[in-house]
Amino acid sequence: MEKQDTLEMFGKNVFNDSTMRKYLSKDKYLKVKKIIEDNLEFDEELAKSFADAMKTWAIDQGARYYTHWFQPLNGATAEKHNSFLFPNSEDGVIYEFPFESLFIGESDASSFPSGGLRTTFEARGYTKWDSTSPVFIKEYKTSKILCIPTVFVSHNGEALDKKYPLLKSCKAINQEALRMIKILDKKSNINKVFPSIGAEQEYFLVDKDMYNKRKDLRTVGRTLFGAKPAKAQQMSDHYLGSIKEKIATFMDEVDLELLKLGVLSTTRHNEVAPCQYELAPYFGDVNLSTDQNQLIMETLKTVAEKHNLVCLLHEKPFNGVSGSGKHNNWSLTTDTGKNLLSMGKTPEENARFLLVIAAIISAIDEYSDLLRATTATASNDRRLSGFEAPPTIISAFIGEDLQRIFDTIIEEKDKKDKTIKLGETGFKAINKFSTDRNRTSPFAFVDNRFEFRMPGSSTSIAVCNTILNTAVADKLSEILSVLENSNNVYEDAQKLIIDIMEKHSRIIYNGNGYSEEWVKEAKSRGLKDLRSAPEALRAFTEEKAIKLFTKYDIYTEKEVKSRYEIKMNKYCSLIDIEAHTMISIAKSEILPACLEFSEKLSQDIEGLNSLKINNETEMSILGEARENINQLYKLINQLIDKLEKAREIKNFEEKAMYYKEEIVEGMDNLRRTVDNLEVIVPKKLWPMPTYSDIFLED
Ligand code: ADP
Ligand code: MG
Repeated sequence: MEKQDTLEMFGKNVFNDSTMRKYLSKDKYLKVKKIIEDNLEFDEELAKSFADAMKTWAIDQGARYYTHWFQPLNGATAEKHNSFLFPNSEDGVIYEFPFESLFIGESDASSFPSGGLRTTFEARGYTKWDSTSPVFIKEYKTSKILCIPTVFVSHNGEALDKKYPLLKSCKAINQEALRMIKILDKKSNINKVFPSIGAEQEYFLVDKDMYNKRKDLRTVGRTLFGAKPAKAQQMSDHYLGSIKEKIATFMDEVDLELLKLGVLSTTRHNEVAPCQYELAPYFGDVNLSTDQNQLIMETLKTVAEKHNLVCLLHEKPFNGVSGSGKHNNWSLTTDTGKNLLSMGKTPEENARFLLVIAAIISAIDEYSDLLRATTATASNDRRLSGFEAPPTIISAFIGEDLQRIFDTIIEEKDKKDKTIKLGETGFKAINKFSTDRNRTSPFAFVDNRFEFRMPGSSTSIAVCNTILNTAVADKLSEILSVLENSNNVYEDAQKLIIDIMEKHSRIIYNGNGYSEEWVKEAKSRGLKDLRSAPEALRAFTEEKAIKLFTKYDIYTEKEVKSRYEIKMNKYCSLIDIEAHTMISIAKSEILPACLEFSEKLSQDIEGLNSLKINNETEMSILGEARENINQLYKLINQLIDKLEKAREIKNFEEKAMYYKEEIVEGMDNLRRTVDNLEVIVPKKLWPMPTYSDIFLED
């Protein structure tokens, strides 16, 4: 594509600043911009003009429908297309867009999970325009839809989505970060602070024909069976390997589709596992990045289809090789373009930087359970703590350089016998970091941001950032309540940093997070290792969490409990579907193939017998096969019984624990036996493509 085309392509389908300027008079454009920036209310006249401009643009682009685009608690995005076309007074049609439709929509919410927030007789949910994320056009082959990003709330204002609490957490962090800035520098011209996110998206691509032959992939997006292939990722030859033509063509089309939506991909490469890749977008405001990540996932899936590929966003599509995560790079940006996680040039800037880092570290320690909980799903349980995935223990890596700075500050204190006179000058200018990266840490400080590596590849980044923003806001607030009444801000800031680093040093671990030693060491430090989602999710309902959420108006107690229930139910449902899929495949595909083989082999043995030919080998293969077949049949029936019992459990917490302990175990046992059989039964009888078939396509 020509340079000019690429430049013009960017944001072509977004009602962005330059488009707005084209479709509105200068006066109105300036008013709209101010309203959006300061989150003010529209007056009716301006609302009409704005909606009209948006409609005209959308129609010019060929859109016939518009939709409120929202992110309900099922983790996906939702849309209901409404036509711009209405009958006119004669026998034709006209394009109409009542301005109210931009601001508010009504949606029957009864089929979305609400965890008891709404009963069916109050089924109404409302979608409200979120003006901080721009309106865009989604293209289908033959139609275009104007999408209006919205929040989704119940009639009494409870959040029914993931975006509304995220927006509230942005308010909290903005408020506390600004407070800090003003305390340290009264003359500061910074008026807004927002979290910036770059969410690296890992994914797998598999051949569509193979995918179609595997019911497990089609039903749950991961393989429920599959013996270890001879060659997986042992040779480390896929990571950053040269990208094949077919994949590069796919990636190019993804890039282009995303460019139109204003999403800029900054890196793309082969990942560690066979068939695994990554796309990292250019970072930006957390609210926008959350929406863009949904668009990235959707685009990867739809473009793959066109290339006879299927994109798997599941956290662990294949056992025995790396899973996929969504590394959430988090920093704080000011409206003047500064990154608060970058070291500064002046003592003031460095004091600010160290306070922010100290606040983040204390937040990670204090709210480690909650952060862990944001990554807890049945699918991520399969990924975490294995094959180059972060462990389930939360810790933070800050690197040698930053560690040295904190150590020096602490040493100064000891030297001066607790009387710190360093004051302002104590925060010397810090030179650039040369620290190495640590890819084994769940929370790694990288140059000017923290990279949270635990979130799963298929989940929205809304919740982990909501918690991260709020936890850091809370810790900043704690620090600021001391500094606000201080006579010597810099001296007290230094004391606070020392206290925080001493109190929370247990969360810092700069070693190998994948090692067994770390598991032991973490235990001795009193850090929790919440291995499964049901254990981890409980953190949401603990008193500490509810206090945090209500203090910053993120979730009410009712909202948070409803979310907990939804997540626990989702955990059970997902495993239930997986277990039933396993049973169905085992019974209708694998068992018949195994029986066919055993029958054929028995006949061969009889034949050899009648010819008096030695059949020891055949007998031994048959023996091994029969043993596994008998075991398979037994395990299928055991799993069926366990699922029957699960159905009788009414309490959702008990149920989730039962799924974790009994069903998951039953599934793992069944899988082991099937995987044994896969290497006994001849390839031509095996009813589905194997790992080797799939990986060697790559
Ligand atoms: P890695 O080596 O960690 O895989 P990538 O280049 O794949 O690095 O991804 C890094 C991600 O971090 C990108 O999405 C990038 O835009 C984002 N990023 C860079 N700087 C910041 C920042 N200050 N705040 C948030 N995200 C950032
Ligand atoms: Mg990366």
